[in-house]
Amino acid sequence: MGNDEYPLEPSPEQMRAMVNKAAERVIEHIASLPRQPSAYDEFDDDARARVNALAEPLPERGTDLDGLLDLLFREAVPLSYNSAGPGYLAYIPGGGVYPSAIADFIANAVNRYVGVWIAAPGLAQLELNVVRWFCEIIGYPAGSGGILTSGGSLANFTAVVTARRERLPDDFRGGTIYTSDQTHHSVRKAAVLAGFPEDNVREIPTNEHYQIRLDVLHQRIAEDREAGQRPFMLVTSGGTTNTGAVDDLAGSADIAADEGLWLHVDAAYGGFFMLTERGRESMRGIERADSVALDPHKGLFLPYGNGSLLVRDPETLRRAHATFADYMPEMQQDTEFVDFCEISPELSRDFRGLRAWLPIKLFGIEAFRTSLDEKLDLAQWATDQLRGVPDMEILAEPQLSLTAFRWAPAGYSDDDLNDMNRELLARVNARKNVYITGTMLSGRYALRICVLSFRTHRDRMEQCLADIRGCVGELSRQ
Ligand SMILES: *Cc1c(COP(=O)(O)O)cnc(C)c1O
Repeated sequence: MGNDEYPLEPSPEQMRAMVNKAAERVIEHIASLPRQPSAYDEFDDDARARVNALAEPLPERGTDLDGLLDLLFREAVPLSYNSAGPGYLAYIPGGGVYPSAIADFIANAVNRYVGVWIAAPGLAQLELNVVRWFCEIIGYPAGSGGILTSGGSLANFTAVVTARRERLPDDFRGGTIYTSDQTHHSVRKAAVLAGFPEDNVREIPTNEHYQIRLDVLHQRIAEDREAGQRPFMLVTSGGTTNTGAVDDLAGSADIAADEGLWLHVDAAYGGFFMLTERGRESMRGIERADSVALDPHKGLFLPYGNGSLLVRDPETLRRAHATFADYMPEMQQDTEFVDFCEISPELSRDFRGLRAWLPIKLFGIEAFRTSLDEKLDLAQWATDQLRGVPDMEILAEPQLSLTAFRWAPAGYSDDDLNDMNRELLARVNARKNVYITGTMLSGRYALRICVLSFRTHRDRMEQCLADIRGCVGELSRQ
């Protein structure tokens, strides 16, 4: 396919044909998501052979599109977790609302440059709208701001760098960061990437609800000051990945204010529950944070590659990131307009704002709120059902849309129970209706159900519970 003289520039008819062919495959794929297995078997010899068959040399000549679409949709895509399907209840589910795919198509096709305001002010304004909507959702005041990132990890990284530059001198190695023992590992990674010795990250223990213990935090800060360290940053969680725990955000904000710490809330999992009344209740105080990480590719159901860092004071981002070069165009002085390259680590990048802007405009935020409320209901429903399964022990009640539990018949040691629950997980997943994952909670192996896909509804949760009951039945007969 392609025009003979300049094959990189297909004709209008050729472009139409290409997009139609791709759309056919995509629509067929999406329609089949509920019927697709929740994951492929395992990465066994057969899977390895299929992957090896996909390795290929640099092609000198082109191939026709039909063959390439066949390869993608028959060979490559099926060998995967069905992370966009309704049965994906593992880790933190991703999303993939359809209009974001259309947005990427448009953004990549027009390929305008949004890193610098003056290069495409209309499009940059649309991205700025998205940032301001996110600020509004978490309760930040007018004048706050932020950036869109590729994900939560980069948002946490940018937060650590910004806090470091705001609160510490150039020789910052004595600076200490406070997290809980449940904080996402990307925060530790961010600290190391930002130049801190790993030892400077303090893991404060959590209470029985897996929330940071503020009394211990207080004490640890005092000890560090005594020892000549420079406490400068507190990272709390707006929904942990392990159990969905939400820290006492208001209490944390009080301590951060007293101690002069930069307060960052990692709300990559839970942030968009701020759209719901229950979420706002759980996360009261989030708006007092200096910065907040959100993952639209989790709670806003966007496809992977969408994170966000919001800050109360956008000048902090500018001070941390602005540099100068003679060959760059002039940057905006008016705070109404934002040169994203001046407040973020990136210069050239995709026009990612459109992936959020299009679905929000098209559906309205109400549709997202309703779906998030449904996730909260489903997690609570699943927990209530699990409680009715004999010997099932709930290890973490849902604070948002995540529940953790284990099967714990009497008379077994924790080690035995850990093995039995690993086996239970393997059996549930082998049925391929749902895909769930496990974790360790204080030495106990726990199964987790995290409901966050816009495609997960009551029917799939009933299937999930039926599979768990069925597998418990199998194990208890052994
Ligand atoms: C997912 C997650 C992250 C990491 O975000 P990525 O988008 O995967 O980089 C950080 N913190 C929490 C709480 C998360 O759930």
